[in-house]
Amino acid sequence: MWIGISPIMADIITRFAPSPTGYLHLGHAYAAEQAFGFARKHGGSCLLRIEDIDHTRCKPEYTRAIYEDLDWLGFDWPIPARVQSQHRGDYAKVIVTLNDKGLLYRCFKTRKELPDGPYRGGPDPNEAARMGAQEKFTWRLSMAKVEAHLGESELPFSDEVLARKDIGTSYHVACCHDDALQGVTHVVRGMDIQPLTAFQNLLQRLMGWPIPEYHHHPLRLNDDGDKLSKRNHDTSIRSLREEGYTAEEVLDMARP
Ligand code: GLU
Repeated sequence: MWIGISPIMADIITRFAPSPTGYLHLGHAYAAEQAFGFARKHGGSCLLRIEDIDHTRCKPEYTRAIYEDLDWLGFDWPIPARVQSQHRGDYAKVIVTLNDKGLLYRCFKTRKELPDGPYRGGPDPNEAARMGAQEKFTWRLSMAKVEAHLGESELPFSDEVLARKDIGTSYHVACCHDDALQGVTHVVRGMDIQPLTAFQNLLQRLMGWPIPEYHHHPLRLNDDGDKLSKRNHDTSIRSLREEGYTAEEVLDMARP
């Protein structure tokens, strides 16, 4: 039985969980409005989480900018943000737990050796030698083992990587762990992440974590109908602020 330790006493807890890989743009302003707005509307709280486990892409200056930009837009969070890079030990424990249940295997394959699309491999026949040679590996969830463990068959999932070679964890593990730890009851996030939700629900079942309710909102696209990217500086919240727009105008502009 999982007992969350969220210090927040609210029936409804949402979270806004950006990754500091660039400056926040209009898409984030809308996503933040959805997550904070949902909590506000239902008398709950919205937490802020910095999803910065990927040190190859995240930068502290972007984390600082997230606080500043959200504050300027008028959002506030009841406790300090959870910064994932400060909690790597928590995510390592999840990997140990799943491995103790016999649900993981080491995968030594390089990106080039893997097929496009779903992959169900299994342990490497030369594992001992490759370990001896200190080759790097990922930890994958074995869907064959998961199906046997749950007594279910033909689950529509690939053997997902739960611990990457370079960062020792993965978005799925860190995100689901923290949703459980923080007592998140409602995940309000963009439709682009909807395809990942079913797999996250599987991980929650395996770990005995509660499954939150999910609301996936439409994305704020650019004028050509494409997703906004952090490389599009023209739609970054800070550049709009520098141009003299008010927070209200930026939020208005951000709605799809
Ligand atoms: N950190 C993810 C992102 O920036 C969001 C993850 C989530 O909301 O579950 O897209």
